[in-house]
Amino acid sequence: MDIYRRIFEHNPDPLLLVDGGGHIANANVRCEQATGYRREELVGRPVEILVPPRFAAGHAALREQYARDPHTRRMGPCQRDLWVLCKDGREVPADIMISPLQDGGTRFVLCAIRDVSDRLAADEQRRRHLAELENLQERLKVLASHDDLTGLFNRRSFEEKTEWMLRTAIRRGACLSLLMIDLDFFKQVNDCFGHPEGDRVLMAVGRALRETCRQSDLAARYGGEEFVVALPDTDAAGSLTAAENFRGAIAALDGLQCRVTASVGAVTFCPPPATPAPAALPAVQQGLIADVDRALYAAKAAGRNCVRHAAPPVA
Ligand code: GH3
Ligand code: MG
Ligand code: MG
Repeated sequence: MDIYRRIFEHNPDPLLLVDGGGHIANANVRCEQATGYRREELVGRPVEILVPPRFAAGHAALREQYARDPHTRRMGPCQRDLWVLCKDGREVPADIMISPLQDGGTRFVLCAIRDVSDRLAADEQRRRHLAELENLQERLKVLASHDDLTGLFNRRSFEEKTEWMLRTAIRRGACLSLLMIDLDFFKQVNDCFGHPEGDRVLMAVGRALRETCRQSDLAARYGGEEFVVALPDTDAAGSLTAAENFRGAIAALDGLQCRVTASVGAVTFCPPPATPAPAALPAVQQGLIADVDRALYAAKAAGRNCVRHAAPPVA
């Protein structure tokens, strides 16, 4: 018999014996250590002494319910939200197993309490790490598709997205225009006012493009001081109007140390009736970029701060 008493006493988890009236009949050494109460302080007291006040009323009802259907099971519907109230007021998260126990004519409930603080802390840390990782992945995705300085799309996403826009234009028989916008004498801005001011100009141009764009347009930084805008559902006349708007918005930028202007090339693709095979799309795309580049250089040659369209053919 002594061996069973010692097993109870020295069980590595805190053990509590509760009688049919909900009073503590016994508590082992680990229970004393875990709760801060001495055995004498626990024995004879209602078990609710170890239950945080917000759960105490409900706990008495659950005890009665358990007495009607006593069997070995985990306490509570899940492993969360079970707390043991310690003598010093601390609440320790716990996983509690309960078992009915009969001794002669007296019924008891044996409670094995396991402190799960470490596991919950580890769960929480895992959740935090996962959230950080998701955040990082999201930022990486943005970094991979956007230009850091201006926040506009970068050249790679522009090329991906315009291929898709071309496909849509062909399917719908709608026009798609592209603009290439190059800042005039930008090297002088850097030379006269320094690179940081040059960067501020590029950011301001990025903002101006974003604000001048329609929601369906796509503005990107193509490289250095060159920007591109794709204009869906836009014919040649529309592209010239849009190009003028962008050129005007850049020329009107204020709050900078110098005035900046831009030259703009435009090209318009109106899909021919015979839809090209999708395999031909990259060639169409490259052709448009070459044309818009030529139109841009025509604008530079014409004196800068102006717009030129690739059709009729650039001289
Ligand atoms: P043009 O009117 O013929 O276009 O003359 P430009 O001076 O604008 O053209 P050029 O190609 O000679 O110079 C482009 C300049 O853009 C040179 C480069 O230092 C500057 N640039 C490119 N990328 C950046 C950037 O990220 N930040 C800054 N500050 N300058 C940049
Ligand atoms: Mg330039
Ligand atoms: Mg350039």
